[in-house]
Amino acid sequence: MKTVHVHTGRPYDIFIERGVIDSCGAVIRRLSKAEKVTVVTDTNVAPHYQWRVLNALAAQDLQTNTFIFPAGEESKHLGTVSALYKTLADFRMTRRDVIVALGGGVCGDMAGFAAATYLRGIDFIQIPTSLLAQVDSSVGGKTGVDLPQGKNLVGAFHQPIAVLIDPDTLNTLPDKFIADGMGEVIKYGCIKDAAFFSFLEREDALSNIEDVIETCVSVKRDVVSRDEREAGERMLLNFGHTLGHAIEKLYGFTGITHGMAVAVGMVMMARAGEMHGVTEAGTAERIVRLCEKYGLPTSDSAALFDIAEAAKGDKKTAGSNINLVLLRKLGESFIHPLPVSELEAFLTQPSTGTIA
Ligand code: MG
Repeated sequence: MKTVHVHTGRPYDIFIERGVIDSCGAVIRRLSKAEKVTVVTDTNVAPHYQWRVLNALAAQDLQTNTFIFPAGEESKHLGTVSALYKTLADFRMTRRDVIVALGGGVCGDMAGFAAATYLRGIDFIQIPTSLLAQVDSSVGGKTGVDLPQGKNLVGAFHQPIAVLIDPDTLNTLPDKFIADGMGEVIKYGCIKDAAFFSFLEREDALSNIEDVIETCVSVKRDVVSRDEREAGERMLLNFGHTLGHAIEKLYGFTGITHGMAVAVGMVMMARAGEMHGVTEAGTAERIVRLCEKYGLPTSDSAALFDIAEAAKGDKKTAGSNINLVLLRKLGESFIHPLPVSELEAFLTQPSTGTIA
């Protein structure tokens, strides 16, 4: 078993092992005084893993309850959370009890948010079952839901007491969602780890998935433990995301996955960096080839003007400035604040000024 320790305000461990899903009851027994556990999962994941989790909990004499919501981002709103609160209250969950988030990013974000707020905060563990959730969203403590005005606009920082990553759950994941997660995997290589980027070029990520997951969560752990609340370094994790979110928004969050949009955003930012002379020449081309290797798109037909317009509504826009993440070269990234009004020009015209 691989274990990654996370040193946030409240430390916890990430356990990576095939079959680790079956030890969730023992992990909860060891880490908490819970008597009751509510398993939160969706209609796609429940048929595959619900009973394994419930059996593992029952084997430790934990009382269990399940909350199943319709799979998909459309469920990630306060209405679903409200129904979940009712389930928790009817089951008489107390502050010592635990929520298990069993599923992808939507499930983890929403169950985590319920855990952060029910009775002013109870414990939860993450059992991420998608590659995106395993390498990204289950680590770092961000929880929340969408509003009609935008994604993740309501939320809280709340760290889990443990994350159990079972790579075998990827066997039931459609190819499209493997590619989705690979967008974030490639991102970690771009921003922090050139050797890992080369590894992804040379080897097949899926045949080495445990190592790949361990590297990604370790990079994210390092960044998050230095900047738990996104005051600085954590913004580097948004490489490809400012434009990626804009592209997702243009598609109404359907038809293009998050990882696909991030892949396009990374390529666009690397190209812009090269055009401005701050990114080592040839970087964008290597990102293009790696994204193609893992089935990700590298360009989009939407006009740059439309993408730039959509990016202006991004939550990460700090006042009238937008924090772009640029690469010096593969494995080295930095933040470049830019007036929002200059974004389109930045993407299309070589600059005369200097960039840090
Ligand atoms: Mg992301």
